[in-house]
Amino acid sequence: MHGFVVRSSTFGAALLLLLAGSLGAQQPPAGRPAGRGPSRGTPIQPGESCPPGTTEVRPRSCMAPEFAPPSIVDYRPHSTLVVPAHTVRRAKYPAIDYHGHPRDLVASSEGLATLGAALDSLNVRMMIVAENVSGDRLKRTLASIGASPQMKDRLRVLAGIDFRNVGPGWAARAVAQLEADVAAGAVGVGEIGKGFGLSIRKADGSRLKLDDPELDPVWDACARLKLPVFIHTADPQEFFQPIDYSNERWLELALFSDRRYPSDQFPSFEQLMTERDNLFRKHPRTTFVAAHMGWHANDLGRLGKLMTEMPNVYTEVGAVLYDIGRQPRAAHDFFVAYQDRILFGKDSFQPEEYPYYWRVFETRDDYFDYYRDYHAFWKLYGIDLPDSVLKKVYYQNALRLTPALPQTGWPK
Ligand SMILES: [Zn+2]
Repeated sequence: MHGFVVRSSTFGAALLLLLAGSLGAQQPPAGRPAGRGPSRGTPIQPGESCPPGTTEVRPRSCMAPEFAPPSIVDYRPHSTLVVPAHTVRRAKYPAIDYHGHPRDLVASSEGLATLGAALDSLNVRMMIVAENVSGDRLKRTLASIGASPQMKDRLRVLAGIDFRNVGPGWAARAVAQLEADVAAGAVGVGEIGKGFGLSIRKADGSRLKLDDPELDPVWDACARLKLPVFIHTADPQEFFQPIDYSNERWLELALFSDRRYPSDQFPSFEQLMTERDNLFRKHPRTTFVAAHMGWHANDLGRLGKLMTEMPNVYTEVGAVLYDIGRQPRAAHDFFVAYQDRILFGKDSFQPEEYPYYWRVFETRDDYFDYYRDYHAFWKLYGIDLPDSVLKKVYYQNALRLTPALPQTGWPK
């Protein structure tokens, strides 16, 4: 680290000298890039960006391609990099998918058989159904699962909470429903969706804030009933930013209108993070699992600070693999440092996508494709977790955090 700083400042001094020189008499004639080649460059001033349709070919000299450039949806270069590659079809240890959305597959014996076969092929032993169901829907789901000899010990269900119309009497009703859902067999709460905070309104019409004191009895009940609370707050921070060509998620935002949160219609990302962190801090006896790494997978320092400050907060990796896999060294260190607090979860149930997670967690492969271009136009790298950490992330943390899960038959 020190070596880098020294080299970098030496480089900075050299750059300053170079800049000073180039601003003087030795500046190349306008339009002509330094060095060889035809004079097709358009000069720019230091600190300026190239004009649209051009790219910087030499310092402060921009050029347009001779062919019409492809759009970002059509540009699919094939990497010529030749390096060891390990596809990992099955997880190295049996996994618990804490962020399950099997949808209708849990409603019939045929669906359950399909789900079981898919999970077997991936070495996912157990799935937590996080479909935000309560009351009769929860009971129907549990009855369907309980009727399947193959799947009855492999699926567990979280209870949903209906946050609409919070007002006088709401908390007592919600706690009573939660107690009934636990009696029916729910093992936790979730997935509390992003609508909580972004859009759900109270009975008086105001936006329901995440840290609203009217909700306190529910969080206290979760602590008393030993129910982990699986919660998804907000969305990637870029969804709250202007949709311009500097937005990392431009393509996704251009594809999906429901992922745009303009500031005149929604609270800001930071507002939601502040309310969420207040909620976590206010209820230290309640265990919260922040889904999607709390949308801080792009800033692991921030997530680490939050988790260090609040020992009741766990996190889950669903749908943020693009951020984990683009920072293999920092992610490796984060997973080692917080190895007791991270849960595996996949979110959207697409069996062919799980092996990308195994490959990122278990290998040290370089520069491989992610499964969705619109999430990430970059490549992924393996973070090479040690076996002891893999076991914790894949199943041990989920088992410890959720006492109602079947605890026997797991590898030591
Ligand atoms: Zn989800």
